[in-house]
Amino acid sequence: MAHDVAIRGAGPVGCALALLLQRQGTSTVLVRPRKETSAAFRPIALSHASRLILERAGAWDALAPTPITSIHVSQQHGFGRTRMSAADAGVPALGYVIDYGALLDALLALVIERSIPVEDAPAEARLAVHAEGTSDETTRKDYGQEAVVARVTTRPGATATAWERFTPDGPLALLPLGGDYGAVWGARPERARELCELPDGAFLAALAQAFGRRAGTFVAAGARSRLPLALRLRPKRIGERSAFIGNAAQTLHPVAGQGLNLGLRDAWDLAQVLHGTEDPGDARMLRRFADLRRFDAAATVRATDFLAGAFLGSDPLSRLTRGVGLTALDICLPARRFFARRMIYGASALP
Ligand SMILES: Cc1cc2nc3c(=O)[nH]c(=O)nc-3n(C[C@H](O)[C@H](O)[C@H](O)COP(=O)(O)OP(=O)(O)OC[C@H]3O[C@@H](n4cnc5c(N)ncnc54)[C@H](O)[C@@H]3O)c2cc1C
Repeated sequence: MAHDVAIRGAGPVGCALALLLQRQGTSTVLVRPRKETSAAFRPIALSHASRLILERAGAWDALAPTPITSIHVSQQHGFGRTRMSAADAGVPALGYVIDYGALLDALLALVIERSIPVEDAPAEARLAVHAEGTSDETTRKDYGQEAVVARVTTRPGATATAWERFTPDGPLALLPLGGDYGAVWGARPERARELCELPDGAFLAALAQAFGRRAGTFVAAGARSRLPLALRLRPKRIGERSAFIGNAAQTLHPVAGQGLNLGLRDAWDLAQVLHGTEDPGDARMLRRFADLRRFDAAATVRATDFLAGAFLGSDPLSRLTRGVGLTALDICLPARRFFARRMIYGASALP
């Protein structure tokens, strides 16, 4: 075999695995389509655990993300709010925001700089790692929602606070990114289409109505795009001489910003299991990888699915339950710390 490992898919998870494997001397080839479609704007919040993984891949210094030092969670037309700080969780920042396209460009540049082979056709290897992103071969649970994504500018500009607001349309997140915000707004498909087609001024007014003035005045919006939201799970993450990581294994609702963070933990655990192994496609080794990932993946999927459902209803009882939950979290530091650390590290053994 020409290589130990062929990684199919040069998204952020595939690139991160390639960089981790290259550092530990595992011979790796990355397979990507000859023509990649350029990615629409998508703000990604990387957790502190993802920072540790990207540092160990030697990639962190190539990124210039915006740190999040506090998160404010509230609901429209209802009481209750929770504030979380980096100090609550004992980390320098709760997360780091970067545009998906900028992250990908930086990781791909490192792959090329470190002379990791990149091919556009399936390559022979003892282990095929599937990192091709969401696949039709997965089970699917639709949330009946789409995410509307845009870069928006406020006055005053964004600093280091991320905002999550539960609106009757769906969850609305504003993530600080280079002085602006990356907005991700979940809504029913017809409302999402409407939000995308509104003139800029009317879109900014809709944002202001849903959000109030706590993040400042909305003054400009970039191009809007929308994506369907569904939970997609691959029943088995290993096969004969093959393993599935990142969105190819599980695709989550973006409500808690966990998809890529979980995918990077997949890549980290696979790299650990492959370290120093004689045969990377060995069935026992692959079972060890699957066992290692089971608990973290299941816990993150459950938590994200719960949040995606819990904040959908806009009836008085749902609003009351949410208000009580947000208030309880706000006044209970241990609960806040547990929640923040779960969002940062998942249920993995990192750091
Ligand atoms: C609106 C939105 C906001 C999000 N926000 C966050 C967030 O804040 N934090 C977070 O952690 N996650 C977030 N996510 C999730 C995150 O974007 C994904 O989990 C992440 O992109 C998955 O990375 P990946 O490398 O597994 O897959 P992808 O990013 O989908 O990359 C897969 C790559 O494989 C390539 N490919 C496809 N088919 C083939 C093939 N046959 N051969 C070779 N290559 C192939 C594709 O072209 C692509 O480049 C968000 C998602 C959305 C939709």
